Amino acid sequence: MSKEITARSEDYSKWYNDLVLKGGLADYSAVRGCMVIKPYGFALWEAMRDILDRKFKETGHQNAYFPLFIPKSFLSKEADHVEGFAKECAVVTHYRLKNDPNGGGVVVDPEAKLEEELIVRPTSETIIWNTYKDWIQSYRDLPLLINQWANVVRWEMRTRLFLRTAEFLWQEGHTAHATADEAVAETRQMLNVYADFAENYMAVPVVRGVKSPSERFAGAVDTYCIEALMQDGKALQAGTSHFLGQNFAKAFDVQFSNKENKLDYVWATSWGVSTRLIGGLIMVHSDDQGLVLPPKIAPVQVVIVPIYKGADQKAGLDEKVMEIVKALRAAGISVKYDDNDNNRPGWKFAEYEMKGVPVRIAIGARDLENQMVEVARRDTKEKMSLPLEGLPASILSLLDQIQQNLFDKAKNYRDSHITRVDTWEEFEKVLDEKGGFVYAHWDGTAETEEKIKDLTKATIRCIPLDNPQEEGTCILTGKPSKERVLFARAY
Ligand code: AMP
Repeated sequence: MSKEITARSEDYSKWYNDLVLKGGLADYSAVRGCMVIKPYGFALWEAMRDILDRKFKETGHQNAYFPLFIPKSFLSKEADHVEGFAKECAVVTHYRLKNDPNGGGVVVDPEAKLEEELIVRPTSETIIWNTYKDWIQSYRDLPLLINQWANVVRWEMRTRLFLRTAEFLWQEGHTAHATADEAVAETRQMLNVYADFAENYMAVPVVRGVKSPSERFAGAVDTYCIEALMQDGKALQAGTSHFLGQNFAKAFDVQFSNKENKLDYVWATSWGVSTRLIGGLIMVHSDDQGLVLPPKIAPVQVVIVPIYKGADQKAGLDEKVMEIVKALRAAGISVKYDDNDNNRPGWKFAEYEMKGVPVRIAIGARDLENQMVEVARRDTKEKMSLPLEGLPASILSLLDQIQQNLFDKAKNYRDSHITRVDTWEEFEKVLDEKGGFVYAHWDGTAETEEKIKDLTKATIRCIPLDNPQEEGTCILTGKPSKERVLFARAY
């Protein structure tokens, strides 16, 4: 496959697909809407998973695992929930195949029809709350703080690698609480965990907010979200945290006796981020040469490429480089020494640029004599000579600088793409010519929201938390509004 990457300015979508495919992150699969995550892509996911998992545990959560299949009747118990997910469910109807006696090959055995059809989980509230009924009796059983790492299936019609697939990997937190206040606090806490992860690890600035009622998770009382901005000016919902009220407790009859010995329904939250984050990470930082990965997530932070002529020179280098590798690893840096003889240094440089490795070190015999190495950073493509002496400390500091630079760059872009507008003409103009978030008044009705979507494809991304109250008039209808909301075209 050619390693040529389409330029962003030429075709942003194609650029994105080129990076995913040629960067070795994922492949299309034989199954519509489903992808194969390749080792480098999976290493990225593992890095994300490890950091998030640690944060979940630090905030008191435990991991557990629930079945992939959900009886159809469970899904129907919460009316909004089933309505929201019905259109994208994969349904298991039979449990056996057989040879067609008429020579039609292997067919579904009509005698092996399931008594109750099973839904491949699109999300697990129902199966989990059905289980919580057995786990929760008294206030002493609360709070119950569970997370699950799993795959889910949503039969999406328009799919895109990582950003929207029919099957995706995610984590879903499901917590149970004695009071509404506690559950809301949990919902907000987990939103903050996601925002902290996005900003301080992925170097992706996010807006924290609440969804409008029509964008709410099916079955939620409130959906909180983090919204990020991609380099083409489109927004991406990067994570959600839902306050579910007592909806699922009522649907599954989960009651507990409180301290006053009275029965009450349990309060719930759920929250999730998915492999979509990888798509967001790519779209925020990468450039026309390939991926650009923030050091805190990059599977390989430093690659060392030896420059030599002949086996003798290489043997001499190997020994010295292994010492450097050891010293860097001892400092907690993940290092790859690419001493593969089959590829030339120039090829390797291009390859690691494509893969977004934050720092490249080139070492030749002459460098070693001078006690120096040549270091190149992926984000700015700047090259510098660094002394071998104290190299681990210099590299650590360089990785910090890269991490910060990526965040600052993304934040500058994001901040300069939040535009306040007060008229419909401006609204359309900003969406068409500049993109990004448009901060405007809305009359608060679902009808207006829908109409704006039909006219411009822009949706309300969120009502930012700590949004100031500000009297104004709706950009479309001119009706009164109490606060601005963030609109954008989105993935
Ligand atoms: P939800 O359960 O709808 O709140 O979604 C939970 C998380 O999964 C959010 O962070 C979404 O961005 C993400 N997500 C939803 N649908 C998909 C999809 N089809 N592919 C990848 N990620 C998704």
